[in-house]
Amino acid sequence: MRDGQLQTARERLAAANTLLIVTGAGVSAESGVPTFRDPKGLWSRFDPMKVATPEAFAANPKAVWEWYDARRTQMRDVKPNPAHFAVAELQRAKADTYLLTQNVDDLHEQAGSPQAGHIHGSIWETRCPAEGVVRPDRRAPLPEIPPKCETCGGLVRPNVVWFGELIREDVIDEVETFLGRHGEADVVMVIGTEASFHYILSWANQARGASGTLIEINPSVTGITPAADIHLQGPAGEILPQLV
Ligand code: NAD
Repeated sequence: MRDGQLQTARERLAAANTLLIVTGAGVSAESGVPTFRDPKGLWSRFDPMKVATPEAFAANPKAVWEWYDARRTQMRDVKPNPAHFAVAELQRAKADTYLLTQNVDDLHEQAGSPQAGHIHGSIWETRCPAEGVVRPDRRAPLPEIPPKCETCGGLVRPNVVWFGELIREDVIDEVETFLGRHGEADVVMVIGTEASFHYILSWANQARGASGTLIEINPSVTGITPAADIHLQGPAGEILPQLV
């Protein structure tokens, strides 16, 4: 069954010109970056309302930054895994692709992806709420917590999207432009995500349309599994290299 599905997925991918790839925390799991909602994920150990909301930051910026500093320090030395490299290869091989990631790490870029739309921002950037300035910052651990804006001296925040906040508008525009240009993609790949956000489900379904193929790669059943034409059940780092 799985061999048959793998073969079908290979054929659909080989024939595809337009490709939407959606990734989530699972694509980085084999690199050693913890996921969120798995039984051993971050949200089983930390309350997201205390570390990933604007209210938590306003109440205790030091505690929120300590959590991000620990995550940045843990992520500092991780390397892309075969799933990231396979995604980059697909992007280079196909005429028109869009990579939409929910991940705040930069492992797609490290693997050579020519483009990655980070809908939830980047853990390697800070933003000054007063000035609106975004700056790259790869220091981990940070020398001072909470870090301050180098021009105005105010508190900066991680440039990530917290619960209750709007997702990145520039990335929304890019996805909408991609969808507007093609109407439908030949193949939509949804990799390592619970697909628990409505916009992820909606974009994936819209891109698949009536004639595209939706391929899901995930060891578990998720919110998008019922819509998937092909569900390749297993770790992305093992399955993706077999497809590319
Ligand atoms: P998730 O933790 O909800 O789901 C991870 C998925 O990966 C699961 O479906 C799991 O089965 C799968 N998986 C595990 N190992 C895998 C492997 N080796 N190969 C393939 N799949 C594997 O993560 P998500 O779906 O990305 O959604 C959570 C999102 O919430 C995050 O991406 C994050 O951006 C976002 N978020 C984060 C914050 C924050 O950090 N401040 C706040 C709000 C939202």
